[in-house]
Amino acid sequence: MLLHGAVLLLLCVFAQLIHCAEDFYKVLGIDRQASDKQIKSAYRQLSKKYHPDKNPGDDTAQSKFVEVSEAYEALIDPESRKIYDQYGHEGLKQHSQGGRSQHHDPFDLFSRFFGGGGHYQRGTPRGHNIEIKVGISLRDFYNGRETEFQWDKQQICEECDGTGSSDGVVETCHHCKGHGVRIIKHQLAPGMFQQVQTQCDACGGRGKTIKHKCPICRGERVIRKPTTVSLKIDRGAARDSRLVYENEADASPDWIAGDLIVTLTEKEPDMETENPDHVDGTFFRRKGNDLFWREVLSLREAWMGDWTRNITHLDGHVVRLGRKRGEVVQPGHVDTVENEGMPIWSEEGDSVYHKFQFGKLYVEYIVVLPDQMASGMEKDFWSMWQKWRKEIGVDLHKDSGRPDPPEPSSSPEGKDEL
Ligand SMILES: [Zn+2]
Ligand SMILES: [Zn+2]
Repeated sequence: MLLHGAVLLLLCVFAQLIHCAEDFYKVLGIDRQASDKQIKSAYRQLSKKYHPDKNPGDDTAQSKFVEVSEAYEALIDPESRKIYDQYGHEGLKQHSQGGRSQHHDPFDLFSRFFGGGGHYQRGTPRGHNIEIKVGISLRDFYNGRETEFQWDKQQICEECDGTGSSDGVVETCHHCKGHGVRIIKHQLAPGMFQQVQTQCDACGGRGKTIKHKCPICRGERVIRKPTTVSLKIDRGAARDSRLVYENEADASPDWIAGDLIVTLTEKEPDMETENPDHVDGTFFRRKGNDLFWREVLSLREAWMGDWTRNITHLDGHVVRLGRKRGEVVQPGHVDTVENEGMPIWSEEGDSVYHKFQFGKLYVEYIVVLPDQMASGMEKDFWSMWQKWRKEIGVDLHKDSGRPDPPEPSSSPEGKDEL
């Protein structure tokens, strides 16, 4: 029994040695629970990285490119992924021999993903770049965030694999014999002709015609549909900074897709999204790496001191402001708080070797004078002022600017004797 087990184990080890093909999950750098989205994202990145056009003469890159597309094809299909998970490379091999074959041309796969002929060079035209703006809250600029956005992207129709034909039959246009252009002769004068080359109107210049159009794209070969793109906002990323997604603009069988360029604009704080710290960020304003905040003080606070404020920062931590008794704050005064501004963006980002530095926080004080007081309070203040003014030698009457009272009569007879 024990021996039997050992032999089986040995056989397994041996089998592993023979099929030394790298684990598909390892090839794509994902774990076994990875979602379709993660598989696609890994393929998107790695296939561009190892594309032979980008690594001319590099055989390692070339074989990596092939490996990556094999791994992607095996894992993106739920059926073959299941077989692979259970039986590994060997199981998959038997499966594909026994029936359904897979696309084995990695360039074909690449072109279905990004459009074009699967190559960057060799005359493949390139599609336009597309620029879009994505609004990001100041809180997300401060903390960094992994999120996603959607846009209407032109994609190669999956139904017909970009042929435009429902039955896969694509014929050469017999009007232009597949050239896409026709030569038209104009007679200018007897015996004098002008030749004009125009786009073939029978096939729209494609050189090919389709009898049975694909019902999904109506023969257009592409369809526009909402596409989700993942977005990583680095801590401290600059407002209006641009992220470039290589070859992820509109796809088409006729060109290799251009770049999708995303500009991160700052948007008003969003109350709806999950916000555990209840930080709204409404009162922070950003300028470069610095933040600005306005704080309102009462007359008493500004004048007498003895107050504190707790400002909740964009990540929920508290910044304490305050003055001791007797410390005056003049209206419009600005406090500079070091290291409470924005994180300063760095290439290393959140790596363990990198420590973030922060800009400054500027707090501007607004002093609000009371426009109403309880009458007792007003009287108390008034008499207190009068007392202290007298004390420092102010002639209260003179100071009031009122006319003097009439001179008292100097004659003792002046008394009213009635
Ligand atoms: Zn034609
Ligand atoms: Zn189609």
